[in-house]
Amino acid sequence: MYIANPIDRSRYRNVWVIAEQRDGRVKRVTYELLGAARALADARRANVWCVLLGEGVTAAADDCIARQADTVLVVDHPELATFVDETYANVLNRLIDRYTPEIVLCGATAQGRALIPRVAVRAVCGLTADCTGLSIAEDTGLLLQTRPALGGNIFATITSANHCPQMATVRPRVMAEPQPDPTRKGEVLAESLDDGLVSRRMCVLESVVDNADRISLADARFIIAGGRGLRGPEGFGLLRDVARLVDGAVSASRAAVDAGWIDYTYQVGQTGQTVQPKVYLACGISGQIQHLVGMQSSDIIISVNTDRDAPMMKLADYAVVGDLFEVLPAFIRKMKQV
Ligand SMILES: Cc1cc2nc3c(=O)[nH]c(=O)nc-3n(C[C@H](O)[C@H](O)[C@H](O)COP(=O)(O)OP(=O)(O)OC[C@H]3O[C@@H](n4cnc5c(N)ncnc54)[C@H](O)[C@@H]3O)c2cc1C
Repeated sequence: MYIANPIDRSRYRNVWVIAEQRDGRVKRVTYELLGAARALADARRANVWCVLLGEGVTAAADDCIARQADTVLVVDHPELATFVDETYANVLNRLIDRYTPEIVLCGATAQGRALIPRVAVRAVCGLTADCTGLSIAEDTGLLLQTRPALGGNIFATITSANHCPQMATVRPRVMAEPQPDPTRKGEVLAESLDDGLVSRRMCVLESVVDNADRISLADARFIIAGGRGLRGPEGFGLLRDVARLVDGAVSASRAAVDAGWIDYTYQVGQTGQTVQPKVYLACGISGQIQHLVGMQSSDIIISVNTDRDAPMMKLADYAVVGDLFEVLPAFIRKMKQV
């Protein structure tokens, strides 16, 4: 067993959130993390810091303060206009060395997943990915990082006792977003960018926006999801008809994705996206735990299934026992009437 030399924890202080932004607009996952960071910082009698990297991002610092940041550390520079993981990691490691945070949180998004493992390795500390719960141990003051393990069948709580900072990622929509409080006051610290930190090995040649005609799963208020019960890719046509009527988005179980009926980007669950819509309408999805962990915090869950004993039917607020190929066309007819 590897046991590191004990570190002097007293050198490390405050809870950091690594912000994610696009075109100067901070993404919601950052606010969700700031809410979680507030509770952790209060338990540690420390402050919440938000680290904002990019070009033209300084104006967004107030939004972070309104959502619980005490200090916003900004590096606003044209070299940071597009996300290059190596450059961003270089800057973050420099800031971590300088300010020694005790806890660092980052979104488990495509960007966060590219960035934060690099930072953790260079900072010689652990990283717990995809946490669903974060708290502080009363006796040790350590960060308790809870995440699904063993295929989602258990929840493991992990601590990083020998290294600092303690680092964790959290998926979007897992933590509650705090209401903005425009009266909050905070400090904005502007840092310059040392030219030596800019990666010369990597650059972004072109950014292509996904023009797919669809509402993103993360933003959708109504999601209609299909599983193996759809019997083939054509079944998703029916789901899209419903989605159009209710201004919703389509998603899928892994069984449907693995069968090649729909692209992976639509998958909800442990190895897909986490969603939290107002309404989640599951059609022909049995509701295995790996799917449920990605959608169980939806406000209202409706399940259409021929099997009344399927786990999704037990979880659902409204369970419709029936053949989806009869229920959905009837639903569409009714919606068109109203
Ligand atoms: C490590 C790991 C990670 C995983 N990650 C994910 C993940 O991220 N997301 C995910 O979804 N799964 C994931 N899985 C797979 C998961 O365990 C299940 O296998 C999968 O979710 C099942 O998909 P399903 O419900 O569509 O299919 P099934 O379990 O086969 O269920 C199909 C359902 O459709 C119903 N049905 C059939 N015909 C009709 C009809 N005509 N009308 C109405 N109902 C009908 C059936 O009664 C049944 O309940 C993961 C598994 C592992 C091991």
